[in-house]
Amino acid sequence: MKAHEGMYIDGDWRPSVGTETIEVVNPADEQVIGVVPAATAEDVDTAVRAARAAFPGWSATPPAERAARITALRDALAARREEIAETVTAELGAPLGFARAVHADLPIAVAGTYAELAATHAFEEKIGNSTVLHEPVGVVGAITPWNYPLHQIVAKVAPALAAGCTIVLKPAEDTPLTAQLFAEAVHEAAVPAGVFNLVTGLGPVAGQALAEHEDVDLVSFTGSTAVGKQIGATAGAAVKRVALELGGKSANVILPSADLTRAVKTGVANVFANSGQTCSAWTRMLVDAARYDEAVELAAAAAAKYVPGDPQDDTTRLGPVVNAKQRDRVRGYIERGTAEGARVVAGGPEAPEGRETGYYVRPTVFADVTPGMTIAQEEIFGPVVTILKYEDEDDALRIANGTVYGLAGAVWAGDQDEAVAFARRLDTGQVDINGGAFNPLAPFGGYKQSGVGRELGPHGLAEYLQTKSLQL
Ligand code: NAD
Repeated sequence: MKAHEGMYIDGDWRPSVGTETIEVVNPADEQVIGVVPAATAEDVDTAVRAARAAFPGWSATPPAERAARITALRDALAARREEIAETVTAELGAPLGFARAVHADLPIAVAGTYAELAATHAFEEKIGNSTVLHEPVGVVGAITPWNYPLHQIVAKVAPALAAGCTIVLKPAEDTPLTAQLFAEAVHEAAVPAGVFNLVTGLGPVAGQALAEHEDVDLVSFTGSTAVGKQIGATAGAAVKRVALELGGKSANVILPSADLTRAVKTGVANVFANSGQTCSAWTRMLVDAARYDEAVELAAAAAAKYVPGDPQDDTTRLGPVVNAKQRDRVRGYIERGTAEGARVVAGGPEAPEGRETGYYVRPTVFADVTPGMTIAQEEIFGPVVTILKYEDEDDALRIANGTVYGLAGAVWAGDQDEAVAFARRLDTGQVDINGGAFNPLAPFGGYKQSGVGRELGPHGLAEYLQTKSLQL
């Protein structure tokens, strides 16, 4: 893999003032595939200054021209689709087919939606005798995780560009090569120097310096709830805007009238995609007592089709998890589930056969899970499904709403209206009804401790705008 020795700041690749570096490791074979600089606080400051200097020009650029640059960015990403997929596969371990269809195609689509929104959004509105201007918030500090590395970058950078903001991005330590590739695409798209800046580095050093920087107007963070709380507190103390996309423990509620086979199979696939490293994954499957045993059997049979394998191989459906720490964490949760009395019906904590090298985890299904168990409350972030039994609809609702999270979820019923009625009672930001398709324009974000703010579509654009009212 090609890695830049510098960081993309003010339109150019510049070396860090420090000497620290980060090694990028392929989770499938544990080999180092690249080395990138680890930014110091001084590097972050340089990037923020570049973004500040570029702000007056970019915010005054007509929306149609901003839209043209985002279109060019979308095109530059589309031209590199295969390279994106290969890079994500190499540093994250996502199977190549999934990397093409999701890790590459989704952000390309999202960039396209913001090219269109930049061109069509009403940046002014009339309310009575007032003209309300929707103005960019200023310099954005974006901090992203590794699990959907390009999507999470585009979900912040594209709306920020559309709004007229300038940006400093600090991507996750595990996936900086995808971020470098994105910076190359920004450069190819002729986005003016300083509008977008990339600093690779460690969370507690570069990430923290960015979140605390007094010249950053909005911190947009996607990552763990633990770090999100810290960033929220820092931003609050500085009266700075903050958007937080955090963890989840979403419920897949299968009502008694639902097509059980379809709901279970789709539910298992939803969790095992990306090796379970999806914040919105439906990690708790809720089934009525009468059909519980059948659901457990169906889930175990579905899990057997996910054989951990080389992500470079086109036929592989389940790759490794991102790093050794994550593998040990997931295995630890599997052991904890058994210790607390849940029953493993597929998988387990041992390394998958023949996969002792690489950060592999066996796709695991737990039955006899009760709502208070650790595996039913905490985000595991690995290929682990928990199946819980409910007595009636009110019990299902109590269980579904009974965690600190509220990011996503699913409801299945024989009748769409029945599923929608149940979904209205869920404390969560998104619900898929009977397998409804992902919509890249629908607001994405959490209730409760899953976050603050929304990404994607017009709601995502609004995060990067502030209003000024002129009374006429
Ligand atoms: P993480 O919180 O450890 O890291 C996320 C980012 O924050 C990284 O870039 C990291 O370097 C940075 N960071 C770490 N410590 C920091 C600090 N003290 N100050 C500033 N920045 C810091 O999370 P992770 O392990 O990389 O990602 C997994 C988590 O992200 C999961 O909990 C998952 O649910 C969540 N996630 C949420 C969404 C969503 O949209 N809600 C999407 C993807 C992932």
